[in-house]
Amino acid sequence: MLNLQTIHKPTTIVDALMLLTQSGVVALGGGTNLIAEKRRDVRAVVDLSALQLTFIETRGDGIAIGATTTLAQVVESVALCDAASGVVTQGARQTHANILRNQATVAGTLIAEPDGIFAVVLSALDARVTRAFLENDAVAQQEIALADFFAQREMFLHNALVTHITLPAESLKRHAAIETVARTPSDKAIVSVCAALEMENGIVRAGAVALGGVADTAWRARDAEREILHQGLTDDVLDRAAMAATSALHPSNDPSVSLRASFRGSAEYRTIMARVLTARALRGIRG
Ligand SMILES: Cc1cc2nc3c(=O)[nH]c(=O)nc-3n(C[C@H](O)[C@H](O)[C@H](O)COP(=O)(O)OP(=O)(O)OC[C@H]3O[C@@H](n4cnc5c(N)ncnc54)[C@H](O)[C@@H]3O)c2cc1C
Repeated sequence: MLNLQTIHKPTTIVDALMLLTQSGVVALGGGTNLIAEKRRDVRAVVDLSALQLTFIETRGDGIAIGATTTLAQVVESVALCDAASGVVTQGARQTHANILRNQATVAGTLIAEPDGIFAVVLSALDARVTRAFLENDAVAQQEIALADFFAQREMFLHNALVTHITLPAESLKRHAAIETVARTPSDKAIVSVCAALEMENGIVRAGAVALGGVADTAWRARDAEREILHQGLTDDVLDRAAMAATSALHPSNDPSVSLRASFRGSAEYRTIMARVLTARALRGIRG
Protein backbone atom coordinates (compact mmCIF):
# COMPACT_ATOMS: atom_id res chain seq x y z
CA MET A 1 0.00 0.00 0.00
CA LEU A 2 2.56 2.49 -1.17
CA ASN A 3 0.07 5.34 -1.66
CA LEU A 4 -2.03 4.82 1.46
CA GLN A 5 -3.42 8.13 2.77
CA THR A 6 -6.34 7.22 5.05
CA ILE A 7 -7.34 4.46 7.44
CA HIS A 8 -11.08 4.46 8.13
CA LYS A 9 -12.43 2.59 11.14
CA PRO A 10 -16.22 2.49 10.82
CA THR A 11 -18.35 1.01 13.60
CA THR A 12 -21.29 -0.04 11.44
CA ILE A 13 -21.47 -2.30 8.41
CA VAL A 14 -23.47 0.26 6.48
CA ASP A 15 -20.71 2.87 6.94
CA ALA A 16 -18.05 0.33 5.94
CA LEU A 17 -19.97 -0.56 2.78
CA MET A 18 -20.48 3.13 1.87
CA LEU A 19 -16.73 3.69 2.14
CA LEU A 20 -15.99 0.63 -0.01
CA THR A 21 -17.99 2.04 -2.91
CA GLN A 22 -15.26 4.68 -3.41
CA SER A 23 -12.43 3.90 -5.80
CA GLY A 24 -9.05 3.06 -4.30
CA VAL A 25 -10.65 1.97 -1.01
CA VAL A 26 -10.29 -1.65 0.13
CA ALA A 27 -11.20 -3.74 3.17
CA LEU A 28 -8.52 -4.38 5.76
CA GLY A 29 -8.68 -7.61 7.77
CA GLY A 30 -5.42 -8.41 9.52
CA GLY A 31 -3.52 -6.58 6.78
CA THR A 32 -0.82 -9.25 6.49
CA ASN A 33 -1.45 -9.83 2.80
CA LEU A 34 -2.37 -6.26 1.86
CA ILE A 35 0.80 -4.88 3.39
CA ALA A 36 2.98 -7.55 1.77
CA GLU A 37 1.44 -6.84 -1.64
CA LYS A 38 2.69 -3.21 -1.75
CA ARG A 39 -0.21 -2.17 -3.97
CA ARG A 40 -0.07 1.30 -5.51
CA ASP A 41 -3.79 1.53 -6.25
CA VAL A 42 -4.89 1.53 -2.60
CA ARG A 43 -5.58 5.08 -1.39
CA ALA A 44 -7.53 4.22 1.75
CA VAL A 45 -8.40 1.14 3.77
CA VAL A 46 -11.49 0.29 5.78
CA ASP A 47 -10.36 -1.35 9.00
CA LEU A 48 -13.05 -3.94 9.80
CA SER A 49 -12.03 -4.52 13.39
CA ALA A 50 -14.80 -2.40 14.99
CA LEU A 51 -17.68 -4.08 13.10
CA GLN A 52 -18.38 -6.80 15.70
CA LEU A 53 -17.44 -9.48 13.20
CA THR A 54 -15.11 -11.31 15.57
CA PHE A 55 -16.97 -14.35 16.91
CA ILE A 56 -17.23 -18.12 16.84
CA GLU A 57 -20.84 -19.03 17.59
CA THR A 58 -22.72 -22.31 17.65
CA ARG A 59 -26.04 -21.70 15.93
CA GLY A 60 -28.94 -23.92 14.86
CA ASP A 61 -27.43 -24.50 11.40
CA GLY A 62 -23.82 -25.05 12.49
CA ILE A 63 -20.90 -22.94 13.66
CA ALA A 64 -20.57 -19.37 12.39
CA ILE A 65 -17.11 -17.81 12.30
CA GLY A 66 -17.02 -14.02 11.98
CA ALA A 67 -14.92 -12.53 9.19
CA THR A 68 -12.47 -10.72 11.47
CA THR A 69 -11.91 -13.68 13.77
CA THR A 70 -8.19 -14.36 13.76
CA LEU A 71 -6.64 -17.71 12.97
CA ALA A 72 -5.30 -17.71 16.54
CA GLN A 73 -8.86 -17.46 17.87
CA VAL A 74 -9.85 -20.35 15.61
CA VAL A 75 -6.99 -22.43 17.00
CA GLU A 76 -8.03 -21.62 20.56
CA SER A 77 -11.76 -22.27 20.06
CA VAL A 78 -13.12 -25.15 22.14
CA ALA A 79 -16.16 -25.51 19.84
CA LEU A 80 -13.95 -25.92 16.79
CA CYS A 81 -11.38 -28.24 18.32
CA ASP A 82 -14.12 -30.84 18.79
CA ALA A 83 -15.62 -30.37 15.32
CA ALA A 84 -14.82 -32.69 12.39
CA SER A 85 -11.90 -34.42 14.13
CA GLY A 86 -10.33 -31.01 14.79
CA VAL A 87 -9.37 -30.28 11.17
CA VAL A 88 -10.48 -26.62 11.31
CA THR A 89 -8.14 -26.03 14.24
CA GLN A 90 -5.38 -27.92 12.46
CA GLY A 91 -5.92 -26.04 9.18
CA ALA A 92 -5.75 -22.66 10.92
CA ARG A 93 -2.63 -23.72 12.81
CA GLN A 94 -0.92 -24.93 9.64
CA THR A 95 -1.70 -21.73 7.71
CA HIS A 96 0.69 -19.49 9.57
CA ALA A 97 3.35 -19.26 12.19
CA ASN A 98 2.09 -18.15 15.60
CA ILE A 99 2.90 -14.47 15.14
CA LEU A 100 0.89 -14.11 11.90
CA ARG A 101 -2.02 -16.17 13.27
CA ASN A 102 -2.60 -13.40 15.82
CA GLN A 103 -3.11 -10.95 12.97
CA ALA A 104 -4.51 -12.85 9.99
CA THR A 105 -8.30 -13.08 9.80
CA VAL A 106 -10.52 -15.87 8.57
CA ALA A 107 -12.00 -13.88 5.65
CA GLY A 108 -8.65 -12.34 4.68
CA THR A 109 -7.06 -15.78 4.58
CA LEU A 110 -9.79 -17.26 2.37
CA ILE A 111 -9.51 -14.32 -0.02
CA ALA A 112 -5.72 -14.04 -0.08
CA GLU A 113 -4.98 -17.77 -0.14
CA PRO A 114 -7.95 -19.52 -1.77
CA ASP A 115 -5.96 -22.70 -2.39
CA GLY A 116 -4.34 -22.71 1.08
CA ILE A 117 -4.88 -25.38 3.71
CA PHE A 118 -7.53 -23.34 5.55
CA ALA A 119 -9.58 -22.99 2.36
CA VAL A 120 -9.12 -26.71 1.67
CA VAL A 121 -10.49 -27.65 5.10
CA LEU A 122 -13.48 -25.32 4.76
CA SER A 123 -14.14 -26.73 1.30
CA ALA A 124 -14.16 -30.31 2.63
CA LEU A 125 -16.66 -29.22 5.29
CA ASP A 126 -19.03 -27.62 2.74
CA ALA A 127 -18.60 -24.20 4.32
CA ARG A 128 -20.86 -21.35 3.26
CA VAL A 129 -19.81 -17.71 2.94
CA THR A 130 -22.06 -14.76 3.79
CA ARG A 131 -21.53 -11.29 2.40
CA ALA A 132 -23.11 -7.94 3.23
CA PHE A 133 -23.78 -5.43 0.48
CA LEU A 134 -25.86 -2.31 -0.06
CA GLU A 135 -29.25 -2.57 -1.70
CA ASN A 136 -31.26 0.66 -1.87
CA ASP A 137 -28.97 2.13 0.81
CA ALA A 138 -29.78 -0.68 3.26
CA VAL A 139 -27.58 -3.62 4.21
CA ALA A 140 -28.54 -6.87 2.48
CA GLN A 141 -27.01 -10.31 3.05
CA GLN A 142 -26.36 -13.26 0.78
CA GLU A 143 -25.02 -16.71 1.63
CA ILE A 144 -23.38 -18.93 -0.97
CA ALA A 145 -21.42 -22.18 -1.02
CA LEU A 146 -17.65 -21.81 -0.76
CA ALA A 147 -17.14 -23.32 -4.24
CA ASP A 148 -19.43 -20.64 -5.71
CA PHE A 149 -17.64 -17.98 -3.69
CA PHE A 150 -14.33 -19.05 -5.23
CA ALA A 151 -15.82 -19.14 -8.73
CA GLN A 152 -17.42 -15.68 -8.44
CA ARG A 153 -15.31 -13.99 -5.81
CA GLU A 154 -14.56 -10.79 -7.73
CA MET A 155 -18.23 -10.16 -8.38
CA PHE A 156 -19.28 -11.38 -4.92
CA LEU A 157 -16.83 -9.02 -3.20
CA HIS A 158 -17.51 -5.98 -5.39
CA ASN A 159 -18.63 -3.22 -2.98
CA ALA A 160 -19.28 -5.97 -0.44
CA LEU A 161 -17.84 -7.50 2.71
CA VAL A 162 -17.60 -11.07 3.90
CA THR A 163 -19.35 -11.04 7.27
CA HIS A 164 -19.01 -14.68 8.32
CA ILE A 165 -18.44 -18.26 7.30
CA THR A 166 -20.78 -21.06 8.35
CA LEU A 167 -19.74 -24.65 8.90
CA PRO A 168 -22.95 -26.69 8.48
CA ALA A 169 -23.95 -28.79 11.48
CA GLU A 170 -23.88 -32.09 9.55
CA SER A 171 -20.30 -31.52 8.35
CA LEU A 172 -19.07 -30.97 11.92
CA LYS A 173 -19.86 -34.61 12.74
CA ARG A 174 -17.68 -35.92 9.92
CA HIS A 175 -14.54 -37.95 10.49
CA ALA A 176 -11.81 -35.91 8.86
CA ALA A 177 -8.09 -35.88 8.19
CA ILE A 178 -5.56 -33.50 6.65
CA GLU A 179 -2.40 -34.49 4.78
CA THR A 180 0.13 -32.04 3.39
CA VAL A 181 3.54 -31.96 1.80
CA ALA A 182 5.85 -28.95 2.17
CA ARG A 183 9.55 -28.22 1.91
CA THR A 184 9.80 -27.93 5.69
CA PRO A 185 7.23 -28.70 8.41
CA SER A 186 6.52 -24.98 8.94
CA ASP A 187 6.47 -24.01 5.27
CA LYS A 188 3.37 -23.42 3.18
CA ALA A 189 2.04 -26.71 1.81
CA ILE A 190 2.85 -27.48 -1.83
CA VAL A 191 -0.10 -29.87 -1.98
CA SER A 192 -2.71 -30.41 0.72
CA VAL A 193 -5.68 -32.73 1.08
CA CYS A 194 -8.57 -32.75 3.51
CA ALA A 195 -11.02 -35.64 3.51
CA ALA A 196 -14.16 -35.39 5.65
CA LEU A 197 -16.51 -38.36 5.72
CA GLU A 198 -19.76 -39.30 7.37
CA MET A 199 -19.36 -43.00 8.26
CA GLU A 200 -21.95 -45.54 9.36
CA ASN A 201 -20.87 -49.07 10.28
CA GLY A 202 -17.67 -48.62 8.29
CA ILE A 203 -19.51 -47.41 5.16
CA VAL A 204 -19.14 -43.90 3.73
CA ARG A 205 -22.58 -42.27 3.81
CA ALA A 206 -21.48 -38.82 2.62
CA GLY A 207 -18.31 -36.88 2.38
CA ALA A 208 -15.85 -34.70 0.65
CA VAL A 209 -12.26 -34.76 -0.57
CA ALA A 210 -10.73 -31.32 -1.15
CA LEU A 211 -7.30 -30.57 -2.58
CA GLY A 212 -5.03 -27.52 -2.40
CA GLY A 213 -2.04 -26.61 -4.55
CA VAL A 214 -3.49 -28.15 -7.69
CA ALA A 215 -5.68 -25.31 -8.96
CA ASP A 216 -6.21 -21.59 -8.32
CA THR A 217 -8.56 -22.34 -5.46
CA ALA A 218 -9.36 -25.26 -3.17
CA TRP A 219 -10.65 -27.98 -5.45
CA ARG A 220 -13.20 -30.69 -4.74
CA ALA A 221 -12.18 -34.09 -6.07
CA ARG A 222 -15.71 -35.15 -7.06
CA ASP A 223 -14.56 -38.30 -8.87
CA ALA A 224 -12.79 -39.50 -5.72
CA GLU A 225 -15.89 -38.70 -3.68
CA ARG A 226 -17.97 -40.85 -6.04
CA GLU A 227 -15.51 -43.76 -5.67
CA ILE A 228 -15.90 -43.87 -1.89
CA LEU A 229 -19.61 -43.12 -1.56
CA HIS A 230 -21.55 -46.12 -0.12
CA GLN A 231 -18.29 -48.11 0.12
CA GLY A 232 -16.13 -49.39 2.95
CA LEU A 233 -12.62 -47.91 2.93
CA THR A 234 -10.85 -51.05 1.69
CA ASP A 235 -7.41 -50.85 0.08
CA ASP A 236 -9.01 -51.27 -3.35
CA VAL A 237 -11.45 -48.44 -2.78
CA LEU A 238 -8.65 -46.22 -1.46
CA ASP A 239 -6.50 -46.92 -4.54
CA ARG A 240 -9.37 -46.14 -6.90
CA ALA A 241 -10.24 -42.95 -5.00
CA ALA A 242 -6.61 -41.80 -5.04
CA MET A 243 -6.39 -42.24 -8.81
CA ALA A 244 -9.77 -40.59 -9.30
CA ALA A 245 -8.71 -37.61 -7.17
CA THR A 246 -6.60 -36.30 -10.02
CA SER A 247 -8.58 -37.60 -13.00
CA ALA A 248 -10.12 -34.22 -13.80
CA LEU A 249 -7.06 -32.21 -12.82
CA HIS A 250 -4.45 -30.31 -14.78
CA PRO A 251 -2.28 -28.77 -12.05
CA SER A 252 -0.22 -25.97 -13.50
CA ASN A 253 3.44 -25.35 -12.95
CA ASP A 254 3.67 -22.34 -10.68
CA PRO A 255 3.52 -19.56 -13.30
CA SER A 256 4.79 -16.64 -11.22
CA VAL A 257 8.53 -17.20 -11.04
CA SER A 258 10.49 -19.98 -12.68
CA LEU A 259 12.60 -20.54 -9.55
CA ARG A 260 9.43 -21.00 -7.50
CA ALA A 261 8.25 -23.63 -9.94
CA SER A 262 11.31 -25.69 -9.19
CA PHE A 263 10.91 -25.63 -5.43
CA ARG A 264 7.13 -25.47 -5.17
CA GLY A 265 6.71 -28.49 -7.37
CA SER A 266 5.98 -29.28 -11.00
CA ALA A 267 2.55 -30.24 -12.27
CA GLU A 268 3.61 -33.90 -12.35
CA TYR A 269 4.84 -33.77 -8.76
CA ARG A 270 1.61 -32.13 -7.58
CA THR A 271 -0.48 -34.72 -9.39
CA ILE A 272 1.39 -37.62 -7.82
CA MET A 273 1.34 -36.04 -4.38
CA ALA A 274 -2.38 -35.32 -4.64
CA ARG A 275 -2.94 -39.06 -5.14
CA VAL A 276 -0.57 -40.09 -2.36
CA LEU A 277 -2.05 -37.60 0.11
CA THR A 278 -5.64 -38.51 -0.79
CA ALA A 279 -4.91 -42.17 -0.02
CA ARG A 280 -3.16 -41.17 3.22
CA ALA A 281 -6.02 -38.95 4.37
CA LEU A 282 -8.60 -41.68 3.70
CA ARG A 283 -6.41 -44.26 5.40
CA GLY A 284 -6.12 -41.87 8.36
CA ILE A 285 -9.91 -41.79 8.67
CA ARG A 286 -10.16 -45.58 8.33
CA GLY A 287 -7.53 -45.97 11.04
C1 LIG B 1 4.82 -13.55 5.37
C2 LIG B 1 3.57 -14.22 4.90
C3 LIG B 1 3.50 -15.60 4.92
C4 LIG B 1 2.34 -16.25 4.48
N1 LIG B 1 2.31 -17.61 4.54
C5 LIG B 1 1.17 -18.25 4.22
C6 LIG B 1 1.09 -19.66 4.36
O1 LIG B 1 2.03 -20.33 4.75
N2 LIG B 1 -0.08 -20.28 4.05
C7 LIG B 1 -1.15 -19.56 3.62
O2 LIG B 1 -2.20 -20.15 3.38
N3 LIG B 1 -1.08 -18.24 3.47
C8 LIG B 1 0.06 -17.56 3.74
N4 LIG B 1 0.12 -16.19 3.57
C9 LIG B 1 -1.03 -15.49 3.00
C10 LIG B 1 -2.09 -15.43 4.06
O3 LIG B 1 -3.14 -16.28 3.77
C11 LIG B 1 -2.57 -14.03 4.28
O4 LIG B 1 -1.51 -13.17 4.51
C12 LIG B 1 -3.45 -13.83 5.51
O5 LIG B 1 -3.92 -15.02 6.07
C13 LIG B 1 -4.55 -12.91 5.08
O6 LIG B 1 -5.33 -12.56 6.18
P1 LIG B 1 -5.50 -11.01 6.60
O7 LIG B 1 -6.62 -10.94 7.55
O8 LIG B 1 -4.22 -10.43 7.05
O9 LIG B 1 -5.94 -10.37 5.19
P2 LIG B 1 -5.72 -8.92 4.65
O10 LIG B 1 -4.31 -8.73 4.22
O11 LIG B 1 -6.28 -7.93 5.58
O12 LIG B 1 -6.67 -9.00 3.37
C14 LIG B 1 -6.46 -9.90 2.32
C15 LIG B 1 -7.48 -9.58 1.22
O13 LIG B 1 -8.79 -9.86 1.67
C16 LIG B 1 -9.62 -8.69 1.62
N5 LIG B 1 -10.49 -8.77 2.80
C17 LIG B 1 -10.11 -9.03 4.08
N6 LIG B 1 -11.19 -9.18 4.88
C18 LIG B 1 -12.28 -9.01 4.09
C19 LIG B 1 -13.68 -9.07 4.31
N7 LIG B 1 -14.21 -9.33 5.52
N8 LIG B 1 -14.52 -8.87 3.26
C20 LIG B 1 -14.02 -8.60 2.03
N9 LIG B 1 -12.69 -8.54 1.75
C21 LIG B 1 -11.84 -8.74 2.76
C22 LIG B 1 -8.66 -7.52 1.63
O14 LIG B 1 -9.22 -6.37 1.01
C23 LIG B 1 -7.51 -8.10 0.82
O15 LIG B 1 -7.79 -8.03 -0.54
C24 LIG B 1 1.25 -15.52 3.99
C25 LIG B 1 1.33 -14.12 3.98
C26 LIG B 1 2.46 -13.49 4.43
C27 LIG B 1 2.51 -11.99 4.41
